[in-house]
Amino acid sequence: MRAGFIEKPGLAYYVTDAEEPQLTRPDEVKIQVKATGICGSEVHAFHGKHPYRIPPVVSGHEFAGVITEVGSAVKGYKVGDRVTAEPHYGCGECELCRKGEYNVCATKKVLGAGGWSGSFGEYVVVPEQTLVRLPEGVDFQQGALIEPLAVGMHACRVNGVGLGKTVLIIGAGTIGLGAFLCAQLANPELIIVGDVVDYNLEVAQKMGCKHVVNTMKQDLVEEVNKLTGGAGVDVTILAFGNAAVMEQAAKCTKRGGIISDVALMPNATPAPMALIQNKGITLRGSNMYVHKDYEILVDAISKGLIHTDLMITQVYPIEKMTEAMDMADKRPEPVVKVMMTF
Ligand SMILES: [Zn+2]
Ligand SMILES: [Zn+2]
Repeated sequence: MRAGFIEKPGLAYYVTDAEEPQLTRPDEVKIQVKATGICGSEVHAFHGKHPYRIPPVVSGHEFAGVITEVGSAVKGYKVGDRVTAEPHYGCGECELCRKGEYNVCATKKVLGAGGWSGSFGEYVVVPEQTLVRLPEGVDFQQGALIEPLAVGMHACRVNGVGLGKTVLIIGAGTIGLGAFLCAQLANPELIIVGDVVDYNLEVAQKMGCKHVVNTMKQDLVEEVNKLTGGAGVDVTILAFGNAAVMEQAAKCTKRGGIISDVALMPNATPAPMALIQNKGITLRGSNMYVHKDYEILVDAISKGLIHTDLMITQVYPIEKMTEAMDMADKRPEPVVKVMMTF
């Protein structure tokens, strides 16, 4: 099959002879991929720095397409259905899986890693439980965008972002901007977005964010205090993180508030634990998402409640895998999300 292939660190290109994945279980479907996004994790894989996405690999996990084959036990879907899918599933048996928190199952499988051929290939095989139907009016590129959006949706939902709440999002890349769109949907009292790149903050503004802070030019803590009467925010979502950001987050979060981390920080990243302890802040990791996050997003996009048009900044045919990966990696021009199409 046709695919974007990462052969080894620094070398990614288009191939026509990648091994096409086949159904191995009756509950699986095969999907012809129509659009797939390049995620930061795949750029890490391209650098040989991702713990699970290890070249040589057909990676990719943000996608949408059309079902071309269904296993004998598949009940709710048929050939020709337009779908996206959550690119992970749990073991189904552990305590976490039983209560629906398969996103943190210790042995979950992730698409484009661990031998599960990913969506940079023209075909992927996934179990039925991961599927989400795309209604008319949600196109394939929007379908592929649901994955990065769902990360922010999960962080917003599990931390009670909603009416009357104040929210700070640090990091306005794909995940942070997605978190902004999800927070905006929940209509909280205040959303502040901080980043160091003006372009990203301008995108946030175009999406409707009234309070953006360039944290290189302005003091984030001061700005947050101004906007919250000195109290700090109820929820801080970290879509980017390092030691300085942890410090800002602890200072910007209200006493008794929550810091939700979706960023991939090194284990040794220091945090101001005395401040976190003294203020009674809950520091909570947020790992990917669950089915409900996808369902809410598909519904919101189909109703025009989430404007996805500013998220996709470049689109390449899969034949241009090398160029697409270069753009996502080196960013010679502003990038939010690089999309590839089949
Ligand atoms: Zn992703
Ligand atoms: Zn499990």
